[in-house]
Amino acid sequence: MERFSHFIDGEMEPSASGGWRAVFEPARAEVYAEVADGGDAEVQQAIDAASRALPAWSALPNSERARWLEKLAQALEDRIDEFARAESRDAGKPLALARDVEIPRAVSNLRFFAHAATQFASESHHGEAGLNYTLRAPLGVVAAISPWNLPLYLFTWKIAPALAAGNTVVAKPSEITPATATMLGELAARIGFPRGVLNIVHGTGTAVGEPLVLHPAVKAVSFTGSTAVGRRIAGLAAPLLKKVSLELGGKNATLVFANSDWRANLDTLLRSAFQNAGQICLCGSRLLVQQAIYDEFRDALVARASALQPGDLDDPATRLGPMVSQAHFDKVMGCIERARMEGGRLLLGGHALDRPGWYIAPTVIEGLGPEAATNREEIFGPVVTLQAFDDENHALALANAGDYGLAATVWTRDLDRAHRLAARLRAGIVWINTWMTRDLRTPFGGVGASGLGREGGLEAMRFFTEPRNVCLGLR
Ligand code: NAD
Repeated sequence: MERFSHFIDGEMEPSASGGWRAVFEPARAEVYAEVADGGDAEVQQAIDAASRALPAWSALPNSERARWLEKLAQALEDRIDEFARAESRDAGKPLALARDVEIPRAVSNLRFFAHAATQFASESHHGEAGLNYTLRAPLGVVAAISPWNLPLYLFTWKIAPALAAGNTVVAKPSEITPATATMLGELAARIGFPRGVLNIVHGTGTAVGEPLVLHPAVKAVSFTGSTAVGRRIAGLAAPLLKKVSLELGGKNATLVFANSDWRANLDTLLRSAFQNAGQICLCGSRLLVQQAIYDEFRDALVARASALQPGDLDDPATRLGPMVSQAHFDKVMGCIERARMEGGRLLLGGHALDRPGWYIAPTVIEGLGPEAATNREEIFGPVVTLQAFDDENHALALANAGDYGLAATVWTRDLDRAHRLAARLRAGIVWINTWMTRDLRTPFGGVGASGLGREGGLEAMRFFTEPRNVCLGLR
């Protein structure tokens, strides 16, 4: 059986305790591999390696660090198919999604921050009190903790800026999807990436994540995952006065106005609801539809969603994959049951699919208002709700109801309205007549229960550096 080892100090390391965890193939609900089950010993070993590597890595010229990231990006790009197959199997996503979107995006993350390393500049202030300039030093050893839904995409989104800014990294991928991070470690070793600069420790959140957060040598924690774990990490890190970046859950609204080109954009609307079986923090799980088009839109959405057939993940026609685990399957099925109990009308789906694997039918629910738990709590599956609104203010009130504030999407041909709404929606990201269109330079993150801080572009480079102002007295 395949085994995913830690990657510490440039070497693939088996579990120190000898423990291994089962890794499941979600499309079959069967164990297909094992992952090293790390703990304090491996965390310490990785932190020691990262500490030893720090002086040389942080002292490299930016262009040299950029060269290493570019080399890793190129090595990954040369193996997109191999990584996409592994990601598809490990996370249960259609191969086409992994091959055409997610692994290429991981390549872009590495390449983007390779360039950022050479372009990053700091401020100078003059004309008021002497001449001030800002030094931006790497923080030191930093931790990156990532989730299972976009495994390599989010893993690289964290490690790339951390490395570009001159830090060394101990990264913990999700124990549910350890395959592609391990493969990236192997690739780093193969291209001779400097030892100890990137370390990967596998294991659970409590056995590996928490010791990383608590370790005094770890100067910052970049976390993407659930709001509950984000709160826990914030609580652990606060007394240590440790820098944290928290990218958490979402319950995003999609606002569809009567005057929008919604018919022509049904494919995008469908993707925004159901891509990766709804297991993307940016999916729009609350569809708010103007009353005048509600019936027509609902019928069109239900018709399209019912055509989202599951199938062999290798088949390019397959659009629907399974839930990532038994536990997540149970959670989503529980949310559907709760929607029924709350009085929701199921227009489509609401049941598991009769096939191997943790598949749930695309599910569309109407008849629940903004106070319903179904419309307030993240479900993270192929489940959307429909709510009708009368006018712009009503749409805004529905969209802003709830604790989350990650993303919102507005579909309208009225650009005045679009900009008015963009300024008033409580969300870190607003898309207008598009979804998931990403410029990696833009600030990425949420407000409220969706997180703290921003990733992307300069925001990430700033997070991973410590500013120091230097003031020169001028006479
Ligand atoms: P999760 O919070 O369960 O786990 C995320 C990571 O944290 C995993 O590596 C896990 O092992 C680790 N972890 C768990 N407990 C920990 C602890 N006590 N201390 C330290 N680390 C710990 O999340 P998940 O189920 O893997 O991912 C799904 C969630 O991630 C959803 O809520 C989704 O919205 C969110 N997400 C957010 C974004 C974003 O950019 N805002 C992107 C993707 C996913």
